[in-house]
Amino acid sequence: MDISIEGVSKTFGETTALESVDLRVPSGRLVTLLGASGCGKTTLLRIVAGFETADTGSVRFGERDLAKVPVWKRRIGFVFQSYALWPHMTVAENVAYGLRLRKLPKEEVAAKVAAGLAMVGLTGREQRRPGQLSGGQQQRVALARALALEPDVLLMDEPLSNLDAKLRVEMRREIRRIQQETGITAVYVTHDQDEALEISDLVAVMNGGRIEQIGAPEDIYDRPETTFVASFVGTVTLLKGKVTGDGGLALGGGATVNLGRPAGAPGAVVNVALRPEDLRLVDEHAQLTGTVVRSSFQGSSRESVAELPGGEQVAFEHRGPLTTGATVGLVADRFTVVERDTGLA
Ligand code: ATP
Repeated sequence: MDISIEGVSKTFGETTALESVDLRVPSGRLVTLLGASGCGKTTLLRIVAGFETADTGSVRFGERDLAKVPVWKRRIGFVFQSYALWPHMTVAENVAYGLRLRKLPKEEVAAKVAAGLAMVGLTGREQRRPGQLSGGQQQRVALARALALEPDVLLMDEPLSNLDAKLRVEMRREIRRIQQETGITAVYVTHDQDEALEISDLVAVMNGGRIEQIGAPEDIYDRPETTFVASFVGTVTLLKGKVTGDGGLALGGGATVNLGRPAGAPGAVVNVALRPEDLRLVDEHAQLTGTVVRSSFQGSSRESVAELPGGEQVAFEHRGPLTTGATVGLVADRFTVVERDTGLA
């Protein structure tokens, strides 16, 4: 069941939470709404769910317009950040709750509860209460409960925010596995870019109530269309400069870097994005030369920042230690020209 969002706007008093948002979630796909706090992602999800009403615009599931359809008739599953389990009920009772409301035969309820708990890896924990489970397990129960009703779409609002880093990674893979196994259409809200890049078919990057770019994770990371997207997703250095005839870029600070190939027509002012992994330390034939101002150990690699003569700072990845103050030469194996300047994240 695909989801179509067209021209959705929403204001709360003086605050514009959403401004004419268009988004299509293809059937069976997982789309994340990625953005910083306050960008409107939760409001958009809540409008899709029916918890909130849009001022203008429409939401459709397939051909069904949802304007007059209340939450409980939308056939959605919703997973909250806070789990929202009934503390006095057992795990099995929590998952069975909605099924009982539908007055399904007892045996059918039991079978669906068992299947749901097996899917999230909680077989054997049926009689525990939420308070006797870890955060990750509680969110698994919430997921099983949301899916037990066999909804048309699954909506998740920062479901992993309360978990520690290692568990978050494990759980996001679980969520992706389950989403793919069930083939359910899903919308997932997060401010965590790694999470979005790993689990999504499509990522919609939001900024100030608008979608700046929607694309496959690789497109968002490798081909950002705006400076905001480039700077929000991953580490990036953005160099603004004027293209010179010989594959160079004259930067505002006065320095010229040689990119090896033209970043546009000569004379054009462009934004060039450089990822740390696209830069390489070299002893000779450097395209950029700078002074190391910061160096941090990150386990599998090190990331350092060099300041160019004009003051621009460039982040690059390397192995082995580097001392602050050292002069380094860099070559850019790859760079991306970012079309629209929408500011930095
Ligand atoms: P977070 O990650 O912090 O939840 P978000 O991207 O999900 O942020 P929203 O919760 O959608 O953002 O909020 C968007 C804007 O609308 C914010 O400025 C927020 O303060 C405002 N807002 C959201 N809900 C309400 C409300 N019920 N009343 C007033 N303002 C609201």
